[in-house]
Amino acid sequence: MFINTYGRYPAAMVEGKGCRLTDADGREYLDFLAGIAVCSLGHCHPAVTAAICAQAGKLVHVSNLYHTLPQTELAEMLVANSFADRVFMCNSGAEANEAAIKLARKAGGEGRYEIISLEGSFHGRTLAAVAATGQTKFHQGFEPLPAGFIHAPFGDLGELEKLITPQTCAILCEPLQGEGGVRPLPVEYLRGIRALCDQHNLLLILDEIQVGMGRTGTLFAYEQFGITPDIITLAKALGNGLPIGALLTSEKVAAAFEPGSHASTFGGNPVACAAAVVVMQTMLGGGFLAEVRAKGEYLADGLNHLSGIFPTIVAGARGMGLIQGLALTPEFIPRGGEIVNRLFAAGVLANFAGGLVLRFLPPLVVSRAEIDEMLVALAGIFTEMSG
Ligand SMILES: *Cc1c(COP(=O)(O)O)cnc(C)c1O
Repeated sequence: MFINTYGRYPAAMVEGKGCRLTDADGREYLDFLAGIAVCSLGHCHPAVTAAICAQAGKLVHVSNLYHTLPQTELAEMLVANSFADRVFMCNSGAEANEAAIKLARKAGGEGRYEIISLEGSFHGRTLAAVAATGQTKFHQGFEPLPAGFIHAPFGDLGELEKLITPQTCAILCEPLQGEGGVRPLPVEYLRGIRALCDQHNLLLILDEIQVGMGRTGTLFAYEQFGITPDIITLAKALGNGLPIGALLTSEKVAAAFEPGSHASTFGGNPVACAAAVVVMQTMLGGGFLAEVRAKGEYLADGLNHLSGIFPTIVAGARGMGLIQGLALTPEFIPRGGEIVNRLFAAGVLANFAGGLVLRFLPPLVVSRAEIDEMLVALAGIFTEMSG
């Protein structure tokens, strides 16, 4: 019935509450994936559900030919809590990156269209986003890809600078590569990229689709690098499960677009925006982000501990806040999928990112007891597999 685009686990999910899911057979799961960094306030957060229901009873869609209150309220909150002055709303991550690519080309002016991104990156599945993605496995079979996308080796500023030409308009990167294997950019590296952008008059586009919206312990990941980007893209957790994406930028860069330059029929839909307003309010509310940082450390400590106990399986833990990964040793990398399957059988959801790293993305509302529960399940599996 479906086109075969997804490898799926044998479960049909019917209900979610907080960090727990229940499938059609009544089996419960502890969710350490959160719909891939989407349901950050947990499944069916009561305030989000109430906002969705209230807005659905009032106004569901009018197009962007008119203003709506939820969209205006969300844009005001995004601007008030970031570097940005201007917002464009869309429906997904790939679409937010498409908007960023178009904006960077338009702002670059005649003949400046090249965008440099990093090897190991992931920027989405539309054709331009695939071209920007620095992993050949996502390109294969789709060539010719749109022109103007160049990939720099990860971590090497000198090599990156060599790729800058008079045609370059922007550098695009994730502050921490999520799909690429939970790989944070070293602080000095991202600062160096910012400096190169300043020096060569390029825009710095940060893809915060996975790591923005509180995931790393600050509302946006860039805050922890001591830099200001020119554009950031958001999606995933912004609507806690309703489809919404956004591009944030400065007044100056935004001025490259005029009415007609870009658009989206559903972008900034009032129901999705009503959900996102509650997400913003909750994350900015008392102590939420400090708790994410504290629980992120707690999870990282637990993973590092496992890494010490099972050195034949685990090469080390890495991450920021509540995006954490366990890198496997070369001999266990081929068994990453098996570990995730064993976790699934034990009722814990996680995944294997970039073919290298077990990735843990719990809802940000996860409790320490739930973190312990996941760690115990994982330790049990490692014990079995090392025996
Ligand atoms: C998920 C993701 C995307 C793509 O988002 P979609 O909503 O699936 O289009 C782009 N960039 C990053 C970093 C992501 O994690």
